[in-house]
Amino acid sequence: MKTAGELSFVFLKKHTAMKRTLLLALILSASVLSAYSQQYTKPEETEVWTPVPKKVTPGKTIGAAPSDAVILFNGKNLDEWVTVSDRSPAKWIVDGDIMTVDKSTGNIETKRSFNNYQLHIEWRIPANITGTGQARGNSGVFLASTGKGDDGYELQVLDNYENKTYVNGMAGSIYKQAIPLVNPTLQAGEWQSYDVIWTAPVFNEDGSVRSTAKVTVFLNGVLVQNNFELIGKTLYIGKPSYTKHGASPIKLQAHGDKSEPLSYRNIWVREL
Ligand code: MG
Repeated sequence: MKTAGELSFVFLKKHTAMKRTLLLALILSASVLSAYSQQYTKPEETEVWTPVPKKVTPGKTIGAAPSDAVILFNGKNLDEWVTVSDRSPAKWIVDGDIMTVDKSTGNIETKRSFNNYQLHIEWRIPANITGTGQARGNSGVFLASTGKGDDGYELQVLDNYENKTYVNGMAGSIYKQAIPLVNPTLQAGEWQSYDVIWTAPVFNEDGSVRSTAKVTVFLNGVLVQNNFELIGKTLYIGKPSYTKHGASPIKLQAHGDKSEPLSYRNIWVREL
C-alpha cells in the first residue's frame, strides 16, 4: 500500500508528464502551422517551370496527324505493314488514300513494335455490306499483337448501326471483355474513327502480371472505353489470361466471314 506522500508523488509525476505531452503537442502544431504559412506565402512558390513540354504542331483538322506522330498509313503504300502469317510485305489493296482488307492474305501488322501509345485509325464498312451478327463488316484493331492469327488484344470493328450481336462483341468493345459505354456508330458507307490510349501490361521476371493493360477509346469522338483494365488477351472461346510479352506490333484483322471487306485510312500513332 502506498503512503499519502508516495501517492502525491505519483500524481505530480503523471501531471508533469501530461504537461510535457501537452507542451510538445502545442510546439508541434505551432511549428506545423508556421511551416505551412512559411511554405505558402506567394503564388510563385507553387509555380513549376521545368521540364518544358516539347512543342508539337497539331494536325490542321481533328484527326489529322500531329507533328510528332509516326505515320502508319496515309495512302502512299503499306511499307509500315507486314503479313502476320509469314512477315512478308502486306498485300492488302491500296487505292487512293485508303487500304482495303484482302481476306485471302490474312491479318496484317506493323513492322514496328510499341508499348504505350495514342492511336488514330479510321475505318469504313462498305455501303453494300451484307450479313448479320459477327458476319457483317467484321475486322478488328489488335492493340498489341502477341502472336500469329488473332493472338492479342482486340478492339472490335463491326457494323453495329442496326446489326444485333452480343454486346461485348460489338464495335467499340474490347472483344468479350468490355461492352462499349454507348453506341456512336454510323451507318455503313460512312468513315468512322477510333482514338485510342493504350497502356501496355507490365510483367514481372517470372511472367506474372505487375500491372494490367489499360485502354481508353473514343469512337467517332465519343468515349466508349474509359481506362478499362483488361483481364488478359481477348479470346473467341474461354477465359482470358495474360502471357508475358514486350513491345508489340499493332495488328488489323482480316476476318473470315463472307461479308464485303472494309477499308482503313489515316492511321498514325504517338508513342507515350
Ligand atoms: Mg473482329
